[in-house]
Amino acid sequence: MRLLLVEDDDHVAAALSAILARHGFQVTHARNGEEALQALLPAGTPPFGVVLLDLGLPDQDGYEVCGKIRKRTSIPVIMVTARSDVRSRIHGLNLGADDYVVKPYDTGELLARIHAVARRRAGAAGASASGGNVVRLGQVAVELETRRVTVDGADVPLTRKEFDLLALLAQRPGVVFRREQIISEVWRTSWEGTGRTLEVHVASLRSKLGMPALIETVRGVGYRLVAPAAAP
Ligand code: CA
Repeated sequence: MRLLLVEDDDHVAAALSAILARHGFQVTHARNGEEALQALLPAGTPPFGVVLLDLGLPDQDGYEVCGKIRKRTSIPVIMVTARSDVRSRIHGLNLGADDYVVKPYDTGELLARIHAVARRRAGAAGASASGGNVVRLGQVAVELETRRVTVDGADVPLTRKEFDLLALLAQRPGVVFRREQIISEVWRTSWEGTGRTLEVHVASLRSKLGMPALIETVRGVGYRLVAPAAAP
């Protein structure tokens, strides 16, 4: 798998590159945000399977780089940083990072996380390749393949996480999903700080879909999607 390592510390990058190479990764090293974005420009063959993004970069903020990467491609991004506070993590995940690893990290754990995001991405690609997967909930249609959501045929633009959240609930209407379960599936993390983020996303989904009753809060437990009566 090709891996883009964005790290301004050459010493750290060399050590990590050696470990990654030993585990079969083909590593491209970028020393700053600009180099990282440049490396992603040519549609490489094969394309990068994952980006390891250090947040402390000399030319631009790592968060900014993550946002720019996310605008161009859905390539998995793992943020690697010494900033361990919850707000930094939430900020990173909201910008579309797939995972967040705090320095100093255990290389075994880092490798496991790289494989996990790559696997999930391959799984998502496989699901979309099988095609035509649309969940219909009354006037709402959730097209899993194209990540498109319509209400009465009109497109409703959702953020990535809003879509993931809706798609998760929509696959089993009526079933209560526990908060921890949703956080672990959609945000791929278990830390407490995401709770607020979940509420914010649910509120946003209710409002964007114009159907506040579609997602029901099950107090103290989590959420479920209330299957609307099918149109006659
Ligand atoms: Ca750095």
